[in-house]
Amino acid sequence: MPTRHFASDNYAGITPEAWAALAEANQGHEPAYGNDRWTQRAADLIREQFETPCEVFFVFNGTAANSLALAHSTQSYHSVLCHSVAHVETDECGAPEFFCNGTKLLQLPGEDGRLTPAGIEEAVKRRTDIHYPKPAVVTVTQATEVGTIYTPAELRAIGSMAKKHGLKFHMDGARFANAVAALGVAPREITWQAGVDVLCFGGTKNGIHVGEAVVFFNRELAREFDYRAKQGGQLCSKMRFVSAPWLGMLQDGAWLRYAGHANAMARLMHSLIREIPGVKVLFPQQVNSVFVDLPKPTIQALWAKGWLFYNFIGEGGCRLMCSWDTQEEDVRAFAADLAAAMPAKVG
Ligand SMILES: *Cc1c(COP(=O)(O)O)cnc(C)c1O
Repeated sequence: MPTRHFASDNYAGITPEAWAALAEANQGHEPAYGNDRWTQRAADLIREQFETPCEVFFVFNGTAANSLALAHSTQSYHSVLCHSVAHVETDECGAPEFFCNGTKLLQLPGEDGRLTPAGIEEAVKRRTDIHYPKPAVVTVTQATEVGTIYTPAELRAIGSMAKKHGLKFHMDGARFANAVAALGVAPREITWQAGVDVLCFGGTKNGIHVGEAVVFFNRELAREFDYRAKQGGQLCSKMRFVSAPWLGMLQDGAWLRYAGHANAMARLMHSLIREIPGVKVLFPQQVNSVFVDLPKPTIQALWAKGWLFYNFIGEGGCRLMCSWDTQEEDVRAFAADLAAAMPAKVG
């Protein structure tokens, strides 16, 4: 039975670096609610990574990060423009609408999980009357739900369009590390330099035990976010155990090393299974996932062998997600089982 799977990067455990930082933080007493040395240092390290004086808040998960960041950027009569497969729309149980007190998510199409400036403009101009929920925010996911990435130029174009129409620019970065590693850019190039106001910077899928950072590049927008996080049940009292792992991940570049490794494992998976007759790759392989269309009996056979993976994420098909700890032998074993489980071709 396999011990590592391709279901999600949150099936993986904690990186040694994050674990060591947790252990190091577990000494003596420290002020609570984020007034500790670890939280201060982690926030400073994030500012260093982005090379700008942003405001940083640590919360427990991505749903809270996105929902509270969106709530802080909207009024209840506003709308948020998002892709139709966006996590905020399909996988957060209405939390954004709940925390926004009624703000409506408006779904936009876009190839490979990506929004386009033209699509955003169309949505803004579609209606401008009082009866329509006024667009106030555009949100993108980097990397996207279907494992693709926006280039810096694409993000700059969306940022300009947002600015043109007075929209705030939110980024769901649950897999931000994978996008940075894949693009080989400085984090600033795909965030504030592209006009992003607020980033939900994912830690969990990158290898931390729990926690995401809400990073406000628009510092005015961050005003009183500490109150919103507290009201939302997201102010951890023993905050050092949420923030310390970020030190372990950020201080020597471990976050990008692990994300790059996960990306490389997906690249290997892609190269091995794309050649198998009958396997149809659904999206360009750009980060740590491969989306494929597989025959139902093949899916059943792989599950029966003990492999765990989802077949309902994004726009359908099977999602094979690699993690910081995915090993080459895991990928090769899965690909071999997949090849063996494909129906024999007749004729
Ligand atoms: C995993 C994920 C999140 C965060 O989900 P939580 O389970 O709430 O931590 C947010 N956005 C995307 C695109 C994700 O894949």
